Amino acid sequence: MNQVASCPFCDIARASKCERIVNENEHAFVIKDGYPVTIGHSLIILKRHVGSFFDTTQEEKLSVLELLDQTKAAIDIEHNPDAYNMGINDGAAAGQTVPHLHIHLIPRYEEQDKDPKGGVRWVIPGKADYWSKQ
Ligand code: AMP
Ligand code: ZN
Repeated sequence: MNQVASCPFCDIARASKCERIVNENEHAFVIKDGYPVTIGHSLIILKRHVGSFFDTTQEEKLSVLELLDQTKAAIDIEHNPDAYNMGINDGAAAGQTVPHLHIHLIPRYEEQDKDPKGGVRWVIPGKADYWSKQ
């Protein structure tokens, strides 16, 4: 399975019957993020220790996307969010802190007096707002 001793996601993949795994298929599994940014923040994680989405096989990509759909459906039922952000920090320069491929699925909830406009563009805060400059 090509796992790495010091990797927190390999630890979870290695543990048999790990209670933190809420869903899985052939090549991927799902956990709740340990430090969630919103209620329901989940991670779809490849079983194999590979850092980049672009180094995965087509089969692995399909497994990951299948779990992305299933996790969204489960969060809809459990938390009824208003929207989602989803994303991959692909590489250290993009902010990746655990170099083992995972997709963040982040449910979003409307908050009074808070404007979420721009979403993932806020990874570069100084460039996020393009609309007020048009
Ligand atoms: P990234 O910075 O994109 O690599 O994201 C790593 C994510 O993994 C973060 O959202 C962390 O909160 C989460 N995380 C790190 N260590 C653990 C862990 N041991 N269990 C669960 N989630 C973790
Ligand atoms: Zn790993």
